[in-house]
Amino acid sequence: MTGAPYWYPVPDVDARAAQVADSFEQVHSAPAAGVWAAPGRVNLIGEHTDYNGGLCLPIALPHSTFVAASSNSSNELVAHSVQRPDEPLRIALNDIGPGRPAGWGGYVAGAVAMLRAASDGPRVAGLTAVVDSDVPVGAGLSSSAALSCSMVLAAAELAGLNWADDDAGRARLVQVSVRGENEIAQVPSGGLDQAAALQCEPGHALLLDCADHSLAQVPFDVRVHGLALLVIDTRAEHTHSGNEYAARRAACEEAARELRVTFLREVADDPLEQTLAALDERELRPLVRHVVSEIARVQQVCELLDAGRLPEIGPLMDASHVSLRDDYRVSAPQLDVAVEVARTTGALGARMTGGGFGGSAIALLPLDAVDAVSEAVHEAFARRHWTSPAFLLAEPSPSGRRIR
Ligand code: ADP
Ligand code: MG
Repeated sequence: MTGAPYWYPVPDVDARAAQVADSFEQVHSAPAAGVWAAPGRVNLIGEHTDYNGGLCLPIALPHSTFVAASSNSSNELVAHSVQRPDEPLRIALNDIGPGRPAGWGGYVAGAVAMLRAASDGPRVAGLTAVVDSDVPVGAGLSSSAALSCSMVLAAAELAGLNWADDDAGRARLVQVSVRGENEIAQVPSGGLDQAAALQCEPGHALLLDCADHSLAQVPFDVRVHGLALLVIDTRAEHTHSGNEYAARRAACEEAARELRVTFLREVADDPLEQTLAALDERELRPLVRHVVSEIARVQQVCELLDAGRLPEIGPLMDASHVSLRDDYRVSAPQLDVAVEVARTTGALGARMTGGGFGGSAIALLPLDAVDAVSEAVHEAFARRHWTSPAFLLAEPSPSGRRIR
């Protein structure tokens, strides 16, 4: 018996926001001033391109992190997370610094501290918050940015900053969240996750140009085409992913130096093989081939989506997976099996998504193939005695906002 596939619950945003508001009231014996939310994301295509000045194409998930919050007059940050019941956070605002607090509090404190820095300090006072989330933690769906971005939305509005109301202000909130994660939580995130959490629109993917930070909304309404985007959380441990990520980044920088460009984005893709001939055949050449070809695939996907030809992007997703597996070498057995089984049981295209070595895969498939594909992947994992995967459907959802 392998049991049935596990589906992450489809969240009812208003009900969850009410629940988090209730938790706040129970813990603090007073109502929260408001509840804010920010979603997780999947990247449709454009992997390991952000730090090469390239293009990526995330969509916001229906699954969000919620923050019920109020200002306090004690100049402290006080926070509880339902997902970290044994690690309550209490820290004086002036004690927040690099690596302080450690752990999950770094994401929350980073958002608050960097907002203070970006807005002339004193306006951002102490804050009391309760956090709860529907974004699976550590699945490559960016629960981390959902946390920092929901917090930055709460902190900004409580400080009287209406930055969430327009595009320029939201871009500033993205920068604040990135700085908080880089400098306080000390994780080297590049901005893709935070932009997805704060700048996506429902029914659209977000085309991000990581060279000039421009963005565009690209239509991605799967249901109109009778399709679904299935997310497969492989639940594979990705133990060495941090080191591998750093190694790939460093190798890309070395290749850029050898090719005399600032970013690999500038490497011409025609004729690519001629340019690549200057690089070491085994180490750098395949990495650059991935980055340059992946950026071209993002452009091709966007052209198809803009032309209303969504069902045709499957082969580009497949090609992206092969490139990440064979050239960039960041896949994992669980990702390869999930992608392969999805494809052979009805998906139009499938690929690993996120940094790799574990995390999640995505498959574009007809709505009526969702059950067959998820069951086949579930069974393939059971046969190999792997931890059971978990599933959700990625409806392109709104970005972060105040809920109540
Ligand atoms: P991902 O972003 O893919 O889910 P990360 O390793 O980048 O995985 O981020 C996971 C970390 O983010 C957790 O270890 C924790 O520190 C923090 N985090 C995310 N969501 C929550 C939450 N709801 N409550 C507390 N911490 C959270
Ligand atoms: Mg993360």
